[in-house]
Amino acid sequence: MADQKKTDLLIIGSGPAGYTAAIYAARAGLKPLLVTGAEPGGQLMITTDVENYPGFEDAIQGPWLMEQMEKQAKNVGTEIIFDYINKVDFSAPPFTCTGDVNEYVAQSVIICTGAKARWLGIESEKEFKGFGVSACATCDGIFFKGQDVAVIGGGNSAVEEAIYLSKICKSVTLVHRRDKLRAEKVLQDKLLNTKNINVEWDHELDEILGKEDPKEVTGLRLKSTKDEKTKEIKVGGVFVAIGHDPATGIFKDHLDMDSEGYLKVEKGGTKTSVHGVFAAGDVQDKVYRQAVTAAGQGCMAALEVEKFLQE
Ligand code: NAP
Repeated sequence: MADQKKTDLLIIGSGPAGYTAAIYAARAGLKPLLVTGAEPGGQLMITTDVENYPGFEDAIQGPWLMEQMEKQAKNVGTEIIFDYINKVDFSAPPFTCTGDVNEYVAQSVIICTGAKARWLGIESEKEFKGFGVSACATCDGIFFKGQDVAVIGGGNSAVEEAIYLSKICKSVTLVHRRDKLRAEKVLQDKLLNTKNINVEWDHELDEILGKEDPKEVTGLRLKSTKDEKTKEIKVGGVFVAIGHDPATGIFKDHLDMDSEGYLKVEKGGTKTSVHGVFAAGDVQDKVYRQAVTAAGQGCMAALEVEKFLQE
């Protein structure tokens, strides 16, 4: 262990929630220390065009946006350290968080470790990610305006994404591996009553078909889960909506979580089950999952920490 670092506020994670928390906390004079995690910048680092983050006339690039947030956090007085926290002790304040590089002893902690979209894991999915393959309809749907698209999954996310896309796209094919949806009844009814949505029951995605130059998706090969028969459909884009995994492994047995591993926070705020530990962004939000909502929660967490430290 190289060093022990003491701080009033440790922020874990460097997505929009983490950097926004850092900007607010630093401006409040809290001298926050932000540990980036293994993939600095979070989910926006694998996003190309961003058109829904307010304040920019034209589309911006996800990695560029994160670079700006990092610079802003640094400029207002955040110490940013490239390290990965692998153990925490929240039993009593000050809290100890152990990283690969340093040990951190903090009076308060804001957890912004985010979540990761689950992917199917097929080779063509990797190849066309960002070129017709997406895990966020709200973010990328507009790029497929007037086109035929598909959504994979049968939960709330998949059904909500299909309904959202049906308002922008010519047609939406929802591909689900079973003959029953997991989504809430009210969403199912809405989906089944939308004219330009078609459901491919009992099918899974076998391969994403596309071409180079320009690199784009042209269709999908679907495989029946009943008899292995395959068929092809033409689509310009595919949205994988098979769930997310919050990055909360190290907080197990330390903080309250829901059945899917999302951190539980006080209603309308960011306080976790441990007094002095806060959570913001996708690590505690499975409904909105947007850069701007994560940033908003980061701001809330910093304001709550300020109050907590004063007390
Ligand atoms: P989810 O409920 O876990 O659903 C995942 C879906 O993907 C399931 O239908 C599952 O199929 C399918 N799936 C998983 N792995 C697959 C694979 N390898 N190949 C094909 N299909 C696969 O995930 P979610 O929809 O993202 O929702 C996560 C949580 O957030 C839920 O608690 C949900 O209620 C909540 N949520 C709430 C809202 C809201 O309140 N408005 C919106 C979105 C999400 P099976 O059904 O066959 O298992």
